Amino acid sequence: MASLAQAEELDAHDPLRSKRDLFVGSDDPGIVAYLDGNSLGRPLRASAARLAEFVPAAWGARLIRGWDEEWFDLPLTLGDRIGAVTLGAAPGQVAVGDSTTVLLYKLIRAAVDARPGRREIVVDTDNFPTDRYLVEAIAAERNLVVRWIESDTRGGVTAPELEAVLGDDTALVLLSHVAYRSGFLADVPALTRIAHAAGALVLWDVCHSVASVPMDLDGWGVDIAVGCTYKYLNGGPGSPAFVYVRRELQESLVQPIQGWMGHAAPFDMGPGYSPAPGMRRFLSGTPSIVGMQALRDMVDLVDEVGMPAVRAKSETLTRFAIDAVDGWPASWAVDVATPRQAERRGSHVTIEHPAFKQITAELWRRGVIPDFRAPQGMRLGLSPLSTSHVELWNGLEAVREQLVRL
Ligand SMILES: *Cc1c(COP(=O)(O)O)cnc(C)c1O
Repeated sequence: MASLAQAEELDAHDPLRSKRDLFVGSDDPGIVAYLDGNSLGRPLRASAARLAEFVPAAWGARLIRGWDEEWFDLPLTLGDRIGAVTLGAAPGQVAVGDSTTVLLYKLIRAAVDARPGRREIVVDTDNFPTDRYLVEAIAAERNLVVRWIESDTRGGVTAPELEAVLGDDTALVLLSHVAYRSGFLADVPALTRIAHAAGALVLWDVCHSVASVPMDLDGWGVDIAVGCTYKYLNGGPGSPAFVYVRRELQESLVQPIQGWMGHAAPFDMGPGYSPAPGMRRFLSGTPSIVGMQALRDMVDLVDEVGMPAVRAKSETLTRFAIDAVDGWPASWAVDVATPRQAERRGSHVTIEHPAFKQITAELWRRGVIPDFRAPQGMRLGLSPLSTSHVELWNGLEAVREQLVRL
C-alpha cells in the first residue's frame, strides 16, 4: 500500500532527489504539488540566471554580431545536443525551429510529397488534436485520404491495428510515441518496421516522450520525429520545437514553407529558392533565439544524470501513483486509464472520474496542480527531475480529500 512513509522512503533512496532543488519554486509553500510538468516544465534556477544575463550580455552587448557568433547555427548545434542527449541521434539530424504544429505541418507535407502516387495518411483518432487537424488539412490540400485507426483512449496504437490499415496506398503514418491522454508508450521500432514493410514513411510525435523516455531514433530506423521543448525539456512557455530527419532522407524531402533561413545561401538574397543541404533546409524564417535559452540548461542537466536514471525515476513515480489510487475504495469508482505495465507507459498517469473537472479547479486554488482532460480525465504529469514522491503523495491526498467530500 502506498503511504507517506513509503513516499519518504522512495525519496530517501532516489539518486536524483537533490535535483529537485535546482528548480525555481521547489521551495514555494504555495505550490503543494506540481503535477503538470508534462504540459509546462518548471524553470531551472540556472535558466533564470541565463535569461537575466542574455539581455545585457548577449543581445545588448553583441547586438547583430550575435547572429554570426552563435545564433545562426544555434538551431543546429542545440538540435545536435537534444539529439545526442535525449533522442539517440547522431549529429546533423536535428534542428530547432518553429512550434510543434508548424514543424508537423512542414514535415507531413514533405513526407507525403516524397511518396508520389500514394494517397493515404494514417493517423489515430486519439492522437493529439493538432496532429489530427493538420492531417485533415493536408489531405484536403493534396487531395489525399485520411485512414483512421480507432485507438483505445486508455491505451494506444498496437501492431495489429496498424497492419490492418496499411497498404500500397499508404504514404505516411503519423503516431505519438507517448499518447497525450493515456500515457500509453508505443513500440516505436516494431511499428516503424511494419510501416516500412508497406513502403510508407513514419513520423513520430515525441512531445510527451522527449526527456522522459529514452529513445534510439537512429537505431530504431525512424524517418522523422517532431517534439516539444516546453514539456519535459523545461524550455518555458512557447519555446521552439525540434525536428529529427534521418540523414539519408534529408535531401529527398522538400518542406513547403520556403523561407530565406532554409535557403542554401540566405545572405545572397538571390532569385529563386534553393534548399540548404542538411537540416537547415527545414528552417523557414528567423528562429526564436530567446526561446532557445532555457532549454539549454535542461539538456545539460539530463546529460549530467543520463536518460536511464530519468526513466528509472519516472517508472518509480508512475508506479507509486497507480499504487496509491489502487488503495482508494472501489466504491469511489476512480479508474486508472494508463497502462499498468511499466514498459507500456510514459511519465504521466491518467485517472478518470466524472467529478474531476470540478475537483481539478478546486485543487488549483489549493496549489495542487494536475491537469484536466475532457471528458473526465485527470492527468498526473510526473517530471522525473523536478517531482518528488512526497510531493506526489501530497497531491494525491488532496485529490482524495476532494473525493471524500462528494
Ligand atoms: C503538446 C503537444 C503538441 C503541441 O503543439 P504546439 O504547436 O506546441 O502547440 C503537439 N503534439 C503533441 C502530441 C503534444 O503533446
